[in-house]
Amino acid sequence: MTSTNPENTVTFADLGIDAKLVSSLDKLGFETPTPIQQLAIPRLLEGRDIIGQAQTGTGKTAAFGLPFLQKIDVKKKHPQLLVMAPTRELALQVCTAMEDYASHMKGLEILPVYGGQGMAVQLRQLKKGVHVVVGTPGRLIDHLDRKTLRLDGIRGLVLDEADEMLRMGFVEDVEKILEASPEDRQTALFSATMPPRIQQVSERFLHDPLVLKTKSKQTTGDTIEQFVLPVSGGKK
Ligand code: AMP
Repeated sequence: MTSTNPENTVTFADLGIDAKLVSSLDKLGFETPTPIQQLAIPRLLEGRDIIGQAQTGTGKTAAFGLPFLQKIDVKKKHPQLLVMAPTRELALQVCTAMEDYASHMKGLEILPVYGGQGMAVQLRQLKKGVHVVVGTPGRLIDHLDRKTLRLDGIRGLVLDEADEMLRMGFVEDVEKILEASPEDRQTALFSATMPPRIQQVSERFLHDPLVLKTKSKQTTGDTIEQFVLPVSGGKK
């Protein structure tokens, strides 16, 4: 691919992303990697663990999605990449994004796994064989307990919005899943903030991680708390 690049900015190919993925990105209109993508992609491709302090909207899904997808061996039909996300909505969003990036990776199967959805469909897909699992911690634990999800072939593991998973009370589940996955996996932890409990998780489960920070898009001061109080018309 020879895209015109008059400003001589870095491209996804420059970062090491292979042609198949680059052609999907072209279709999506992704021309220039965002700052977190420029920092994270080469490091993840070379096998480092990372901590990305990046918020939603910075392009963090592709920052971990592209390098980890590139490492998948489609011929091996077992989960190789596990992404944990705090909510069903985020898990589905990550799945959709990864499916878009992987549109040229023939035969690649990505499965969302979350509570509230019937077990039967997830069990059927897991049995058939999937390469990527994106799930919420509670439902992932259910599958581990039932032995319907094998983690022994996991090569890459992502904690997306780790601080949100802590806030929602999932941190013990997250640790249990990390404990159940192979020690020599590669791990990426993304979090907008780094509370002490998440710091603890990263010290225990990540190997010599690189901390990658991009400028925050936060528009509210740290000391300002915002909340919403929904009221019906008559009670305003
Ligand atoms: P995320 O932070 O991963 O939720 O991404 C935020 C939005 O930016 C999504 O709609 C992505 O599709 C889009 N996006 C991510 N990376 C790029 C890029 N390099 N160029 C253009 N759009 C992007």
